[in-house]
Amino acid sequence: MERYDAVIVGGGVIGLASAWRAQQRGLRVCVLERGEAGGGATRAAAGVLAPDPETPGFTALARCSAELWSAFAEELGDVGYTRCGSLVLAFDEQELGEGWLDGAACRALEPGISPDCVGGLLLDADAQVDPRRVVGELVQRLDNLRTHADVVDVTPQSVELADGSRIEAERVVLAAGAWVARRLARRLPIRPVKGQTLRLRGRLPATRIIRSEHVYVVPRASGETVLGATIEDVGFDETTTDEATALLLRQAMRAVPAVAELELVEAVASLRPRTPDDGPLIGEWEGFLVAGGHYRNGVLLAPITAEAVAALLAGDEPPPETDPFDPRRFEV
Ligand SMILES: Cc1cc2nc3c(=O)[nH]c(=O)nc-3n(C[C@H](O)[C@H](O)[C@H](O)COP(=O)(O)OP(=O)(O)OC[C@H]3O[C@@H](n4cnc5c(N)ncnc54)[C@H](O)[C@@H]3O)c2cc1C
Repeated sequence: MERYDAVIVGGGVIGLASAWRAQQRGLRVCVLERGEAGGGATRAAAGVLAPDPETPGFTALARCSAELWSAFAEELGDVGYTRCGSLVLAFDEQELGEGWLDGAACRALEPGISPDCVGGLLLDADAQVDPRRVVGELVQRLDNLRTHADVVDVTPQSVELADGSRIEAERVVLAAGAWVARRLARRLPIRPVKGQTLRLRGRLPATRIIRSEHVYVVPRASGETVLGATIEDVGFDETTTDEATALLLRQAMRAVPAVAELELVEAVASLRPRTPDDGPLIGEWEGFLVAGGHYRNGVLLAPITAEAVAALLAGDEPPPETDPFDPRRFEV
């Protein structure tokens, strides 16, 4: 029987990044992915790296991971990482807050935004990365990645695949995204929240991420523009809908009218893994290591999660910013 130091169930951005960091510590790691690597939520993600202030613990975690991103991206090569900043637009005077720019100042920064914009907030620290290119680079660096390997059962020291074969490991890491509690670990408090994004081709007259209340527009240097994202509480439904496509296009055109001139090339739907407090689960749980529940921020949080998983697998202390995200915090 095959045996590894660690088997990681799930080849999304979290599982792949964790495997890479663990491998760099000299561990023998195998990633098992039931479809294609990065084919889950990672494929739908826009790659916005925006440490939105939420709870104090989350903000510290998100800021720390955002700081790790530039070195993480540099190690991987050209993955479209750029600290482009965001401009959050307001269309109503009542939305304006302290420190917001007026409409003219916004248009001086980003001439492509709508003439109806009355003001905006500049967030210089925001960055973006192309999650699909991140996956491509990670895949090339992994010694043992098995795709089309559907894990049907897990114990803390072994996994069983749909073809009946078993693989043993010192540790089993659960990184199966929104699907982890469906079949593998039913008591883990992670549930799916659907999101849809659109990919368009053609150069947009914008350099920053343009955000408004309902949409974000992500112009990439490659000439791709990503529009996101819906938030739909509909269980394990991963279908794209014409309604969502129309809504995202309409809202994006309201923010940046030239979106109307771009060619729609792809609509994607996937499931975000959500926990009861919207914070991730990183750490020990019933004999497993869990790296999941990253909800809307899995790409942003990949570098710090990978550091934590690799440290825990190697018997070291994880970064202290991950302490509040102990998977056992919901147990009574
Ligand atoms: C529309 C949308 C937009 C988003 N935009 C952003 C963004 O801009 N910035 C950001 O930071 N985050 C964003 N996110 C969130 C981000 O995509 C997720 O938090 C992140 O992908 C979670 O990574 P993961 O590896 O845990 O899950 P996933 O990427 O879903 O990967 C889990 C993998 O596990 C595999 N798997 C499941 N069950 C099994 C099994 N039994 N056996 C083997 N393999 C299995 C799946 O096939 C999948 O590939 C977005 C998400 C969505 C849906």
